[in-house]
Amino acid sequence: MLVIIMMSKQISSFRDVQIIKNNTLVLCDIDDTVLHYPGWKSRCLDIIKDLQLFQLSKEELKKDLNDFCNMYKHMHKPEHTDYDGFSAMLQNIQSHQGKLLFITARCKVSHETTKKHLMQAGVYCDDQDIHYTDNIISKGEYIQKNIDISQFDDVIFIDDYVSYIKSVVDIFPQITCYQFCGSNVDGDGWSLSS
Ligand SMILES: [Mg+2]
Repeated sequence: MLVIIMMSKQISSFRDVQIIKNNTLVLCDIDDTVLHYPGWKSRCLDIIKDLQLFQLSKEELKKDLNDFCNMYKHMHKPEHTDYDGFSAMLQNIQSHQGKLLFITARCKVSHETTKKHLMQAGVYCDDQDIHYTDNIISKGEYIQKNIDISQFDDVIFIDDYVSYIKSVVDIFPQITCYQFCGSNVDGDGWSLSS
């Protein structure tokens, strides 16, 4: 854990992402990094308390929580974690002739929903700029197989999940990684589908 923390920088605003070189590629997670659902963690804790009464197995608990999570996200609009900071980062990327790609563990079949969620938070992007791992491979492996980073002079990866950061660091030690720990993000450790 300590090694990962040393190999990534914790940030609470996208303003703290340092883009120094021209032609920089920024790979950014979506859930609990750009988007979040305020209040859902406390609701989740309530659900866990209720479910504990039924003495469910770990797998059953995880499935029920996942179902609840999906239902909650279906019924509520996401909010941006840091709209102003994100806008500043976008401007910074543009001024360095860089590129932003989203990389999410969501499934590709959720593309229209994902675009809608981003738009609800004021984020607009092209279809091809969202990459989906379908939660079947790590983000490091996904980048290795699907994104040609060699055409960029610098690459930055931003995610709230330490395990995804580790998967990137392990394969691409040259990539600068940031762990997004937005002060108002309410999902770290609970985002079963992120
Ligand atoms: Mg995430």
